[in-house]
Amino acid sequence: MKAAVFHGVEEPLQIEEVEPPTVEDDQIIVETEACGICRSDWHAWKGDWSWIGVMPTDGLIFGHEPAGTVVEVGDNVERFREGDQVTVPFNLSDGTCHHCRNGRGNICEQVVPLGFLKMAPGAFAERFPVRKADHNAIKLPENVDPVDVAALGCRFATAFHGLAHRVDITPGDWVAVHGLGGVGLSAVHIADALGANVIGIDIIDEKLDKAEELGADETLNANDVKDVPQAVKKFTESSRGVDISVDALGVAETCQNAVNSLGKGGQHLQIGLTTSEEGGNVSLPVDNIVMDERDFKGSFGMPPNQYEEIFRMMDRGKIDPGKIVTETVPLEEVPEVVQSMDDYETVGIPVCNEF
Ligand SMILES: [Zn+2]
Ligand SMILES: [Zn+2]
Repeated sequence: MKAAVFHGVEEPLQIEEVEPPTVEDDQIIVETEACGICRSDWHAWKGDWSWIGVMPTDGLIFGHEPAGTVVEVGDNVERFREGDQVTVPFNLSDGTCHHCRNGRGNICEQVVPLGFLKMAPGAFAERFPVRKADHNAIKLPENVDPVDVAALGCRFATAFHGLAHRVDITPGDWVAVHGLGGVGLSAVHIADALGANVIGIDIIDEKLDKAEELGADETLNANDVKDVPQAVKKFTESSRGVDISVDALGVAETCQNAVNSLGKGGQHLQIGLTTSEEGGNVSLPVDNIVMDERDFKGSFGMPPNQYEEIFRMMDRGKIDPGKIVTETVPLEEVPEVVQSMDDYETVGIPVCNEF
């Protein structure tokens, strides 16, 4: 089968013929119909995440935002049949640890990221295996377009879990989203659906326009102002600061701007993982966080049991992940799209839909 294969940091992914996966007892094999191309692919390709134990090795197949159809079912799998349409979270869990048993499979003790380690080859391929399928695979509702839900396993779901479950959001709250890539735009759209007043911040006007289309009440080009936190605060009553800030990018500047945009009692949601520039460390105004009783929360993917919430909101037209998809490409163009993320100009979510 054809797949996009990693051969070294910053070396273009190669489209190659590889052996198709064979099914193990706890697995399903999925024929890929769509797979989002993500900044996380770019991070891994740049060799960014060695400090969190994610270092892709020669021969790894990338791709962690899939939707597709089950074509083979392992002997011990109970919940899936051939022909089921499924998606999969990027952080595959074991289903048995303390966190999995408490509904937090996204932070499983034995988490294996899809398409970042060879033990879980990814979905930039005609087929991919899903380990512990009964715990990890999620049946899609009928009549959804695989392209529209390709980002559900990563960016859209991460933004949803963060805003709906990690922070305490009240209708009318000011939510500032710093960095309007795929996850940032998803956060804008979801915060709007949850009843917040939303401010979108980026340095590319096209992304600000897209944020407005998705429900941002205010937008700010960070290059147009000297002091981003002050400019964000100005949108709020008496410049008191926002209730919730989201760093959807993961560079020191957006993280610090986001924390400094908060008002007293505000909550910061960290979704973006850092680059090799930060190496996982960002300095923060700790004393202000203490005296203002601000919260700093991390959010990582989404537990499998929360997908139903997204599907119910999609069904009633309250959210539409498909609105964030801006481009579809064949497998052959995946290497180029990953490489082009160097300049941060990709708008919305590009999805590969021809394998
Ligand atoms: Zn992703
Ligand atoms: Zn677990």
